[in-house]
Amino acid sequence: MVRGAGGHEDHPTVSNFIQLYRILSLYTPVKKITKGNVASDENETLLVSFQDSLKTHAKEVGKRKLEWKDEIHNIIKGKASEAVQASSEGCSSLDANIVYHLSGYVVFKSKNFSSCQNCLTSIETSNLKNLPAVADLSKIMDYGCVLKYPSLPLFKLICFVVEPALVKMIEKKSMYGDMVKNILTSLDSFSVKDIGCELDDHKFELLSKVIPFYIVTRLYFYVRSVRNDLGHGKATKKNRKLAKLQAR
Ligand SMILES: [Zn+2]
Repeated sequence: MVRGAGGHEDHPTVSNFIQLYRILSLYTPVKKITKGNVASDENETLLVSFQDSLKTHAKEVGKRKLEWKDEIHNIIKGKASEAVQASSEGCSSLDANIVYHLSGYVVFKSKNFSSCQNCLTSIETSNLKNLPAVADLSKIMDYGCVLKYPSLPLFKLICFVVEPALVKMIEKKSMYGDMVKNILTSLDSFSVKDIGCELDDHKFELLSKVIPFYIVTRLYFYVRSVRNDLGHGKATKKNRKLAKLQAR
């Protein structure tokens, strides 16, 4: 039913599915009855009130979201230190190149995380002539010189603190529940020196968005690679093609 309601897209994403499900749950009881043993002028009491349902749900979601944000903020604040981040054996050269490239994507998206220009500047490399060796992959991918390059402190934080914790979680196969919070809780303490500006809690506000965003992006690519390894993508394509051919 949800597939049928998605127009030309018969394989909805998770967010599309939830949206369509909600619309259908309300649309079906609310729409005008044109068929069946019911007269259209009969006064019916609806089981679901459209406005109330949305209002109550929005309030609950808003409250939960704020609580979650506070928790993430406190976890990150508790792990932060002002010491200089030490490099470790966390990433091999090729992995480091990929992590650097992904960190650049996080920087590209960072304008959605903060409106403070000083904070945003602190996580981006402005000196493009002196890029580290780990930027080689990004340089190859940067056809039109449009990519963003992360600052060294941000890259070190992601590569030597976030990435190892994430890999450990993947290897333990404990990929369930609130993964972002679990990964954040398992992080070693890390340096926030030179990340974000010195105003109030700016650096923690920035990091409480940057780190979860990196984790979610990284998990997206991980899940995609697992699906490719299992051959799900090819099987789905083949079955979809077959279904279309059979429908003719
Ligand atoms: Zn700031």
